[in-house]
Amino acid sequence: MSRRPSLTVVEAGARMRQQVLVNHLTELRLTAFVEHFDATAQTAAQANWSHEHYLAVLAEQEVDRRTQNRRKRRIQEAHFPILKELADFDFAAIPQLNQAHILELARSRYLQDATNIILVGVPGLGKTHIATALGVAACRQAHRVRFYTAAALSNELHQAQHEHRLSRFLDQALHHKLIIIDELGYLPFSPTGAQLLFQFCSTLHERVSLLFTTNLPFSEWVQVLGDERLTAGLLDRVTHNSHILEFVGESYRFRQRMAASATNPAKLSVSAGAAAPADTPPA
Ligand code: ADP
Ligand code: MG
Repeated sequence: MSRRPSLTVVEAGARMRQQVLVNHLTELRLTAFVEHFDATAQTAAQANWSHEHYLAVLAEQEVDRRTQNRRKRRIQEAHFPILKELADFDFAAIPQLNQAHILELARSRYLQDATNIILVGVPGLGKTHIATALGVAACRQAHRVRFYTAAALSNELHQAQHEHRLSRFLDQALHHKLIIIDELGYLPFSPTGAQLLFQFCSTLHERVSLLFTTNLPFSEWVQVLGDERLTAGLLDRVTHNSHILEFVGESYRFRQRMAASATNPAKLSVSAGAAAPADTPPA
């Protein structure tokens, strides 16, 4: 059988050039190029694409991949406790809530001028759900978001102060577009905690949007913050230039359990044990 060494040499040369190309693309971190350049070259040859067309198709795939990666990264860095979507929110269950307003907020335009959002209402009505969903929407638009519960933020602020890195912590907070402070009102702040929260909100005021969820009407914030002047100052900053949305009704999951019990009496004895909505915080 006769061998064709010249062809092998050609093939070997092509393979070597391809390996060099892969190395360069890897060095440049063009991972979508690495993955697709070969198959796309075959499509380009069959469809008679220009060089520019071929390059543009690969570049678009690279940009798409980076956009996807950035969105995923933003969501991971936000530390949402559970991911929630607006699409899964049953607006019919809470008719007082202005759906169009929420959908408009999901476009994240309020972040441009650091407008705040405050979601007020009794537990179980979907405040954390909406807060998270708005945060996720902002992440998908490549904004930096951070989710804290009020208690966790207080802990972080104390810790940062204790370790003499409070100003660095505040500087890092300023790199975000949206900071969510969930569940203000369940736990009282220590005097230092309240002062630190005030300092945090003052630093971010008009620079980073804050989104609070709270079970307390504004007149009762002093109960958890402890100091009237500080509370007035905080409310002045937070409510200035803000969207305030009130959640009114009965716990969504509680209502669902009751509805399930009504259609399936077998479940009634199980649900009946839960006299209060599970979402109600301990008194
Ligand atoms: P809140 O923060 O007001 O106490 P949550 O957002 O924690 O309430 O809601 C409690 C649970 O009920 C969550 O699992 C949430 O997804 C769900 N939920 C509440 N309201 C709705 C709603 N209208 N549509 C879909 N799920 C809801
Ligand atoms: Mg909540």
